[in-house]
Amino acid sequence: MGKKAIKIALAGNPNSGKTTVFNQMTGTRQKVGNWPGVTVEKKEGTVFKHGREFNIIDLPGTYSLTPYSMEEIVARDFILEGKPDVVIDVIDASNLERSLYLAVQLRELGCRMIFALNMIDVARARGFRIDGDKLSELFGVPVFFTRANKGKGIDDLLDAAVFLAEEKSAADEARKVHYSRDIEGAIACLKEKLEAYTLKDFPHDYRWTAIKLLEDDEVIRKRIETSAGANSPELMATASELRNRLAQKFGEEPEIVMADERQGFIAGLVKEVVKASSIKRVDVSRNIDLVLTNRFLGFPIFIFFIWAMFQITFGLGEYPMQWLSAGFDSLSEHLSMLIGPGMFADFLINGVIAGVGSVAVFLPNILLLFFCIAIFEDTGYMARAAFLMDRIMHMIGLHGKSFIPMLMGFGCNVPAIMAARTLESSKDRILTILITPFMSCSARLPIYIVLAGTFFAAHAGTVIFSLYLTGIVVAILTGRFLRSTILRGRDAPFVMELPPYRVPMLKNLLIHMWDRAGMFLRKMGGVILVGSLVIWILSSFPAVPESAYEPGLKQIRAIYAQKIAEAKQAGLMSRVEELRRDKAAAEESLRAKMERRQAENSYLGRIGKFIEPVFSPIGIDWRGSIALISGFVAKEVVVSTMGVLYAAGDSGTKALGRVLRQSGVTPLSGLAMMVFVLLYVPCLATMAVMTRETGSVKWTFFSVVYSTAVAWITAFMVYQGGRILGLG
Ligand code: GDP
Ligand code: MG
Repeated sequence: MGKKAIKIALAGNPNSGKTTVFNQMTGTRQKVGNWPGVTVEKKEGTVFKHGREFNIIDLPGTYSLTPYSMEEIVARDFILEGKPDVVIDVIDASNLERSLYLAVQLRELGCRMIFALNMIDVARARGFRIDGDKLSELFGVPVFFTRANKGKGIDDLLDAAVFLAEEKSAADEARKVHYSRDIEGAIACLKEKLEAYTLKDFPHDYRWTAIKLLEDDEVIRKRIETSAGANSPELMATASELRNRLAQKFGEEPEIVMADERQGFIAGLVKEVVKASSIKRVDVSRNIDLVLTNRFLGFPIFIFFIWAMFQITFGLGEYPMQWLSAGFDSLSEHLSMLIGPGMFADFLINGVIAGVGSVAVFLPNILLLFFCIAIFEDTGYMARAAFLMDRIMHMIGLHGKSFIPMLMGFGCNVPAIMAARTLESSKDRILTILITPFMSCSARLPIYIVLAGTFFAAHAGTVIFSLYLTGIVVAILTGRFLRSTILRGRDAPFVMELPPYRVPMLKNLLIHMWDRAGMFLRKMGGVILVGSLVIWILSSFPAVPESAYEPGLKQIRAIYAQKIAEAKQAGLMSRVEELRRDKAAAEESLRAKMERRQAENSYLGRIGKFIEPVFSPIGIDWRGSIALISGFVAKEVVVSTMGVLYAAGDSGTKALGRVLRQSGVTPLSGLAMMVFVLLYVPCLATMAVMTRETGSVKWTFFSVVYSTAVAWITAFMVYQGGRILGLG
């Protein structure tokens, strides 16, 4: 064909159905990532239709194109710099008036547009009749009706895009908003100056640029400063003079006046094209909200949903998790039989499989958690949850939306940190990301089970519950502390859209879930694999040679051989059996001793001895220190490291508890250890995702140092305080 691909950008308000349109167009051939430089989700897909290639980009949902939120800047920049051939504005037809504000701004930008009047079924059900031809004529834009969730009208959009992309003419000036005379005068004046002063290849529409200057748009101002060079001071002076004059005249900032005039334009337009056939607005959503956001009922219902989510995630996820973990066990077993003992087998089984396995077994939980969250999002309930939590979150200086990531943190901190993306202000986002790791994730639970089970048997449940609570309290205190120091600022004004409730679409839910889970597996699997390999290498070298066993083994064999021979001679058959068992036990204990020596002698062991002084004030010996250090990789590793270092071999919970007690761990130091585990950095994967989501290593570094310090200090207070009280 040789024709170049057509680049289509999907713009529209949040919840207008963009992603549904996107999924219908691209199926599963899509890439999910981030917009360069910022952490707003970027979806991109390629599809071949009508003999052409289409590149489709799902822009972040916005109500406007002002430069105030990351989403708006990203969407606008893409249209300005990414030069899409066609922009499809996905409009919620049941909410036409609100949606058209963005449309008007897109029109002003001068890009080639198509309107997809989506949710036409909802609009009709509400009794709206929309005259598409009239809208198309008034706006100068092709208009199509779609029902994205049923795949209706999607092909027409692609057809029209081909047609429009090939057309040469620019957008029709006559169809743009016209402002009142004074404003138009100022626009014309600035436009002329811009034409004269900027470089020949100035990339933006002049009228639009003039409008933005009048609105005092910071981003555009900077751009002109580079483009107009020496002339920019004069341009800026003119702009600010014009602004002042308009402000005097209207008694209000020009951007507000202009926004009002756009609204006026839209109001007129809507009158022309929408006929409300009858007033049969039985507003289902509002009725549901009467219950779900009710002052008294809302909260218990919300708690119930959360409880149900955890039940599903961890209860239902338990089974596939067991299958997977059994699968990995039998894989290691088969491999070890196949390859036999040796360095390579050890590497493969204790390094690679243990590493990958420890991540992969959590996949079912993660899929289920994301499935539940996708249901919350797609039905519109998530917005209500944020709404309910708003007042409580204000105590930390955050708003309700930040609660969603924190909630997810009880499952796994990695997706939780990713969920902070929905926050508009980057300060809010960073603050949320910093406090989320204090939510005790599911990977920390096994450690509590071992330690609390061993030392607080009857009260284990209470101890574990108190730990979770401690995490929440530390999160709140941290939030308040950071808000009043390095992340000072007001919480962004909270205008929470409460979108109408909708029945979620299975396909959307699955795609949603799979996107996130895939990201988790790819990125985190890599990190955890590398981390576990490092731990394996550090604990395996320098190796104590096999031959070091030999003298001890020989001695045991010699002693027992003699004893057994004596017993046989005396005809004591039961004594022989007993001796054989003793011999096996002696060999086993020698091997365990060797393994402990290996551990002590390895690089990891030396590191442990080296850092022991750091942890001894909180009652943790060198072995515990290593276990905690290895926990930087992943919390699951703490238990298995303890297994290797203390018990050597038999790592059942009971056995481990016994050995812990024998090697001098007390209830008090056990408690200190749990507190430390609760509060210090969750895992490498969290650090990786934190770096990605905040866009800098700086915050990750801060978080690691801060949380480790908090962990140490709290554990110190617990341990030393306990000793003063005479508890340990
Ligand atoms: P986005 O925020 O613009 O990406 O919106 P989504 O694509 O996530 O859609 C929001 C919700 O609207 C989803 O639950 C969709 O299933 C639903 N939806 C999308 N298109 C239609 C439609 O034409 N009719 C109806 N009734 N629902 C739709
Ligand atoms: Mg979307």
